[in-house]
Amino acid sequence: MHLNGPDGKIVLPCAGLFSFIGADPSSGWLNGCAALDDRGFVLTDLSLTPDQLGQTWLTLARTPLPFETSHPGLFAVGDLRSGSTKRVAAAVGEGSASVRSVHQYLAF
Ligand SMILES: Cc1cc2nc3c(=O)[nH]c(=O)nc-3n(C[C@H](O)[C@H](O)[C@H](O)COP(=O)(O)OP(=O)(O)OC[C@H]3O[C@@H](n4cnc5c(N)ncnc54)[C@H](O)[C@@H]3O)c2cc1C
Repeated sequence: MHLNGPDGKIVLPCAGLFSFIGADPSSGWLNGCAALDDRGFVLTDLSLTPDQLGQTWLTLARTPLPFETSHPGLFAVGDLRSGSTKRVAAAVGEGSASVRSVHQYLAF
């Protein structure tokens, strides 16, 4: 049941409201630079298939480091990363843990 409110708005009588926002990844700016899952989250390390890695990685003769995307040297952590736990502490922890991978990458 709904009532027509002013300005064409619909008024729904209800006892409460659950607003679920912030669940869509903002990954469009990557513009194909890194492989995404079917919901637009960035795939990293073990989530990447050989097809998604392609020839570049065969040439490098290594697999992606933890948090490394399909683009060598590009890392993803936090909510944007496919399969991550969508919580503040998890995002901060991933950011911290990824530093090791960045150091490893820079040492290649
Ligand atoms: C409504 C809501 C309630 C939540 N409640 C809790 C809670 O109670 N406890 C908890 O632990 N977690 C909670 N979370 C989850 C928590 O907010 C996230 O897990 C955490 O913020 C992830 O951090 P992040 O740095 O990965 O991403 P974000 O905090 O989302 O940071 C990403 C940043 O990148 C910016 N950005 C996006 N695109 C671009 C671009 N193209 N260029 C430049 N900047 C860009 C965004 O504006 C944003 O500032 C909640 C989330 C929501 C949406």
